[in-house]
Amino acid sequence: MQDGTQTPQGQTAKRRQGEPAARLKRDRAIAVALSVALAVTGHAAQATPDAGAAVSPRPAQASAPAETRAVTNAVSVTGDNRVTTLSFTISRPVEARAFVMERPDRAVIELPAVNFQLPQGAGRHGKGLASSFRYGVFAPGKSRIVIDLAAPAAVTRVTSVQPDNALPRLEIDITRVDRAYFHKEARLAAGQGAGQAPPPAAVAPPDNADRRPVIVLDPGHGGLDNGAINSAGLVEKDIVLAFTQRLREHLEATGRYRVIMTREDDVFVSLGDRVRIAQQHRAALFLSVHADILRESPGVRGATIYTGSKLATDTESAQLADKENDADRAAGVTSQVDNDQVANILLDLTMRETRAFSNVLATRLVGGLSQVIRMNKNPHRSARFIVLTAPDTPSALLEIGYLSSTRDADLMNSPGWRDRTTAALAKAINQYFDGRRSMTAPGIIP
Ligand code: ZN
Repeated sequence: MQDGTQTPQGQTAKRRQGEPAARLKRDRAIAVALSVALAVTGHAAQATPDAGAAVSPRPAQASAPAETRAVTNAVSVTGDNRVTTLSFTISRPVEARAFVMERPDRAVIELPAVNFQLPQGAGRHGKGLASSFRYGVFAPGKSRIVIDLAAPAAVTRVTSVQPDNALPRLEIDITRVDRAYFHKEARLAAGQGAGQAPPPAAVAPPDNADRRPVIVLDPGHGGLDNGAINSAGLVEKDIVLAFTQRLREHLEATGRYRVIMTREDDVFVSLGDRVRIAQQHRAALFLSVHADILRESPGVRGATIYTGSKLATDTESAQLADKENDADRAAGVTSQVDNDQVANILLDLTMRETRAFSNVLATRLVGGLSQVIRMNKNPHRSARFIVLTAPDTPSALLEIGYLSSTRDADLMNSPGWRDRTTAALAKAINQYFDGRRSMTAPGIIP
């Protein structure tokens, strides 16, 4: 798909010099189409909150019954490197708005809650200007389609059409534009707040009367962001949610902790919000859970505990952190990490102290897990993960295994393995807190 990236740009530049009249005409056509799209956008943005039951900013509506949502179960991509059309079947017309984002170049289509029942692997390989695309829940009542662009392009049409004697279709036209035009459109959208994270997930408010330490469990990915998918169709976001739910049960059974989840179902949560949830609750421990694919090292397997660090311990860890840190961009969100905090020298000291506790935590977790499951040959590694940047919360990221390993994938999908592993993990966490009673530490200790 990369071959479409370079050549059209050069060709376009040449054609433009030679054919000024044609250029003007085409530019105008794009501008008109765009202004139509933008007019529709403005209208949709205002109209949707009142338009129907499917869209609501209230988290209470998050789990509206699937049958009330429009359903799409097939998609086709047609066209070439000048105009590409994505066409989704849809059970009823839906309102849509579109915008573009840069670095990397993407087009984002915002929709009300849509039930995506597309064939496995749909979107992985695109055509023309759409090199690939993702889709899914973005926030309560909101879905998104995020299209990775092979070249700068504008969404010149996004509409529900109903042909005679056929199901309605959601059609999206993407048209090649030059870099300057694309840049302007992306900046305009950013200025209107298009890349903002969804409103924070509905998490129970801090309970000041409850003095038990708070543990924040963070199942990676969710909604529009699937995380890794292996060749057997196992999806990281589902595997880690099931694992984290079981871990929560083990921890709650001890009665020692208040356990908060950054997500309890299949919904997108931005990286910044995951960190903020831990900070809001003055969490004594934050544990992010993943099951990634290591494309460069398909033979690698076994659980690994990562702690945050400016310098990565090894190349694989640095690559993994880069991939995880891209989760927001993949969902069409501009990462908003609070850099002011990091600049503060006092927080820098807190951070150092917190990192020391994170390392103690990692050692405990490695010790506990290695009793029951296979660990990676270097089971404690470090890299610059955004979710591990809360300056006052001891944090770790656990790769329970790698979906790129068939053996790991089979185990991670087994309820027996899940139960055994989460029980061992809960025990290791108990030991970590037992050890902390004698230490001065951030977070609340009873
Ligand atoms: Zn992951």
